[in-house]
Parts: sequence; C-alpha cells; structure tokens
Amino acid sequence: MADTVLLEERPAEQLPAAPVQPEAPKEKKKFRLTKYWIFLIVLIAVLAAIWGIFQIQSISDFWLNRVHPACADLIGSITAKIPVPIYEIMIAAAAVLGVLLIVFLILLIFLRKRAKYRRFVGGYFKTLLVIAVIAAGFSFIFDAWLLRSSVLGETDYTAQEHTLEEVVALCDRWQTEVNGLIDKVDRDKNHHFIRRTEEEIRADLMKARAKLSAEYGRFTIDPPPEKLSFVSPALHTFGIAAYTTTPTMEIVFSDRYEAAAVFPSVYAHEFSHYCGYWREDEANYLGFRLCDLSEDPNIRYAGYIDIWTDLMDALDKAFFGDAPVNHDDEGYLALCEELVQFEDQEHLLLFICDRSTNYKLYHELRGEEDSTPPKPDYGTLPEGVGEIVSDAGEKHFENLRDKLGAHYYDGVVQLMLDHME
Ligand SMILES: [Zn+2]
Repeated sequence: MADTVLLEERPAEQLPAAPVQPEAPKEKKKFRLTKYWIFLIVLIAVLAAIWGIFQIQSISDFWLNRVHPACADLIGSITAKIPVPIYEIMIAAAAVLGVLLIVFLILLIFLRKRAKYRRFVGGYFKTLLVIAVIAAGFSFIFDAWLLRSSVLGETDYTAQEHTLEEVVALCDRWQTEVNGLIDKVDRDKNHHFIRRTEEEIRADLMKARAKLSAEYGRFTIDPPPEKLSFVSPALHTFGIAAYTTTPTMEIVFSDRYEAAAVFPSVYAHEFSHYCGYWREDEANYLGFRLCDLSEDPNIRYAGYIDIWTDLMDALDKAFFGDAPVNHDDEGYLALCEELVQFEDQEHLLLFICDRSTNYKLYHELRGEEDSTPPKPDYGTLPEGVGEIVSDAGEKHFENLRDKLGAHYYDGVVQLMLDHME
C-alpha cells in the first residue's frame, strides 16, 4: 500500500521517460464478419428455410397432423407444472430488456469514453438481437401454420354463401336442441346456471376429444389445466376471454370469464387451438362439436349458447346480403319471431340471462328476489390505459380479419351446415 502511494507521489520528471512510439497510420475500421455475425446470418437462414418449408401445404399438414400434437403435449405438460402463464412472464421480461437497452444507450452518451462500458452495451445489444430474431422467426413460422392449418387440408374453403333457407333450417335445429336442454341444465336455488369446475370440464373434454379424434386426427392429446392471466383487466378491455400460446403451449383465461355459462365452450375452443386447429372459425366449430359430444347437459348447453352468436351473424348475412344490417327491419323482426320458438317467455328470458350470466330480468319477470351474492366488482382500467388497450384490440382483430379473410369467424356456419347434412 505504502509503496503505491510513494510511487504515485514521485514527481513525474523523475520517472523514466517512455520511449516515443512513431504514430501508426490510422486504419479505417473495417467491418469484420465475426463469429457472432456468421451465427446470426445462419440463424436467420435456418428460420427462413423452416418458414419456407411450411409454405408447402403437404408438409404443413404433416407437421400439424402428426408432429404438432406430440410437441404440444410434451411442451404443454412441462409448462403446466408452473401454474402461472410463462408466456406473459416472457413478454414482460422482453419489455424490461427493451427498456434497459434504452437506458444503457442513454448512459452511453456520458460514458462513451469507457471502453469497458461500450463493450458491455455492445454485448447486450447483440444478445437482444438474437432473442428478437428468434421471436420474429417463430411468429412468421406460426403465421404459416395459422394460414395452412385447415381441417380440410388442401381444399380451399371459401364457401360461405349460405342461403336464407339453410340458415333458417340450422336455427330450427339449434332451437330444438336448446329447448331440450334448457330444463335439463343444473341450476342453483336461484335458477342460475351452474358452471362445471375446470376438472369436470377437462374430464369431459378428454372423453369428447377421444370421440372426435376419429374425424379430426389432431385431437390425440388431453387438454392442459387452464391458467389465469396476470393482465385480466387488459384482456377484458381487449375483448378476449382466453387465449392459447405458442411456443409455451398454455391455455390462459381472463379471470372475469370464470362464471360465464359459455366457459366450457371457450375452453373447448382454446383446446382446439392447442391441438393445432388454429383458425378461428374451425376452432369455434370444433369447440362446439366437443361440447355437443358431452353427456353433461351443462356442457352441451354451453356449446349451444356460444354458437348462437355465429348463427345470428350468418342470419344477418343471409337476410341483408350486402345491404347494411338493420335489426329494426320489419321483415327481419317477423322472421325472428317465427324463428324464436322457446316454450314460453320465461324460457326465452332464462336463455338470455344464461348467456349474459345476469339474471335480473328473469327474476323481475317472476317477481322474486335474487339472493345470489353480486359478482365481484372488478373495476375498470384507468381511462387513458383503457382507451389504448381497446384501440389496440380493435386493430388486432382488424389485422386478424385481413390476414385470415374468409377463414376468420364466419366460416363456422358452413362447417355446421356440412356437418348437419
Ligand atoms: Zn381462438
């Protein structure tokens, strides 16, 4: 210690002078293809090649029919061991890493003379770049599956021009089934629909998917346990009840949909995605089929409640065609009156209340008290945040509609018509 201090205190002129080096001519820094850049180029090439391979329908079909279910089962059973949505943690971590990069870059303005810090920021940036390339590559590959995952293989499935007679016939069949179910459904003492527990729904879906797998070969695996989202208020504002993630293979629910009568149907829809049926219309149809195969009236009924929205959309389309939809149109109202054939007004109201999980109207009609404790008050997102989230939601669904075109939500009725024939 003392030596160091002494040495430092020695006047500069007493130190032996360093030999003067002739200044080397300044070389222009050339970009060198280091191991890192070679690795990145190879990585991009591999991801692009995989994406390209999945553009071939037969390969994409082979993957989704034979390989995907096994992969989903393996990854899903591992991620199921962690009861929280890993996908959301990954997104949050990515956001933190991105923010840190910005902070490091700002600090670089002040610390640019420190070579060690410059190297650290460079290394951090390069690591982030690799993560971003893998994430982008995977989402491109997923898009290829999304567009080529049809249950109908190579058939281009664009038939959606249902005649009014066809849709009316479908609505009639729907009504007959619902009339048969509505009194069989288990209800509590206040007539509220009893939602089955997640274990009951899973056990039921396992049996149903075993039956459906003869027709739709990707249903070879069992549904994973549901997870609850960390960002339920945002999902709710976004208009999402649940979602299925790749590559972590998780089914994640917003906690605000737990009580809804349609829960089993939403679960079955997500399970269809999980098995590799990525298209929305097909997942809706298959979700309905899974519920319809159940022996539990509460689960079958959930499927019928959920598919009703699609039927009504198809009815609008068949009735109004390209003209704007007007639900006050006399002809339309007359048709609806003809179509809606519940046993009586009480049953109609019960169906409406089951659908919304709000039984106020039903109890008012019967002039009785509803002693069910009110649903928890979830509150809403702060106004500014809520607006951003709902705008993003609208944009997301608009993009999805653009991307999937005919295979967005409305093809479900065509699938139902084909099935009923
Ligand atoms: Zn979906």
